[in-house]
Amino acid sequence: MKNAAKVIRVLEKAGYEAYIVGGAVRDYLLGKTPHDMDVASNASPEQVKKLFSRTVDTGIEHGTVLVLLEGEGIEVTTFRTEGAYSDMRRPDKVEFVQSLEEDLKRRDFTINAMAMDEELRVIDPFGGREDLEQRVIRAVGNPGERFQEDALRMLRAVRFSGQLDFSVDPGTLAAIQQHASLISAVAVERLKNELDKILINPRTERSMCYLKDSGLTRHLPAGVLLEMDWSGYEPQAQAAYGWAYMLYRQGAEFPAVKGFKFSNGERRLIENALKAARLERWDAWTFYCFECKELEIAAYLSGRNVTPQQEKEALPIQSKRDLAVNGIDLMQWTGKRQGQWIRQWIESMERKIVFGQLPNDHEKIKDWFLDEYHRHA
Ligand code: ATP
Ligand code: MG
Repeated sequence: MKNAAKVIRVLEKAGYEAYIVGGAVRDYLLGKTPHDMDVASNASPEQVKKLFSRTVDTGIEHGTVLVLLEGEGIEVTTFRTEGAYSDMRRPDKVEFVQSLEEDLKRRDFTINAMAMDEELRVIDPFGGREDLEQRVIRAVGNPGERFQEDALRMLRAVRFSGQLDFSVDPGTLAAIQQHASLISAVAVERLKNELDKILINPRTERSMCYLKDSGLTRHLPAGVLLEMDWSGYEPQAQAAYGWAYMLYRQGAEFPAVKGFKFSNGERRLIENALKAARLERWDAWTFYCFECKELEIAAYLSGRNVTPQQEKEALPIQSKRDLAVNGIDLMQWTGKRQGQWIRQWIESMERKIVFGQLPNDHEKIKDWFLDEYHRHA
């Protein structure tokens, strides 16, 4: 807040108007710490850049410049309106406007369409404060029209309901029900971003009920899988928990959600967490083979009361790298060439060592190996 106020003062001193806008005003009025600060101004990006020594061009064509002050980034956006989102990614065109009010009018919900000046005076043309008090999410203007401009707003309404523990205004909800099918045209990256936020927000179940009641689930990549009973889910800091929970509870596999375009890392995390959660029992080999994070999610899913990190640290070796021998040793001892056989022997050694049946000692491993090798030969 302090740095945003500074940015506003500098802009005002130079003769421009400037306000804190959007989520930061909402969170401030709710007594929460806003996690990012947006400032709206009638200054153009070029004019903003002239006034601050450190800025980053984050979206000049949309009128946005990031101002860096004491390590904090404050987005300064020129007052603008936007047209339809025909590619459902970004507005076809943004138009710069002169007044704050026109800028606030393009925003999605009344609680997100307030501004605050440097003295913390609130500018609230659409009744956002009252809706905050009533704990309602209500579209600015005609909800149907607003959802036709950008269908993602329907999912944002559902997301904010859980994030803030608010209800969705009946008129706004009815418009979502009416226009639900439009959501299928929105870029999946934007959809996934909102669903991730639903899965980490404090009232996932509330959002998921709205998702189902609004009819949106039917038009999303995971479809009816999302319609399950979420009452047993305790939201976690990472969305992967929620995705894995949904698949685990319904005996489904990762491909059921892959339409959301997960990163490879996230996909692996979810797949391995599911695999581990579904194991009948966990032993030292389980702790050796899976990553800590994967086991943490798996433990949550299967209700296991273990601390994966401790279990992993207690193992004689943490990975192949810790093994006192390697493939070259094996080739020297046997005079054989590289091949699949090495991998199999290394894994046998890892198992023995992990289970405490063989010390991780070069000579001891060699003795064991030569013994076994000749017995099999
Ligand atoms: P949070 O950051 O807590 O998720 P936020 O309200 O800051 O919530 P952002 O997505 O960061 O949400 O957007 C900032 C502001 O921009 C919103 O408060 C809203 O005024 C406006 N906004 C964002 N996305 C849209 C949209 N799709 N349509 C209309 N206005 C939007
Ligand atoms: Mg924000």
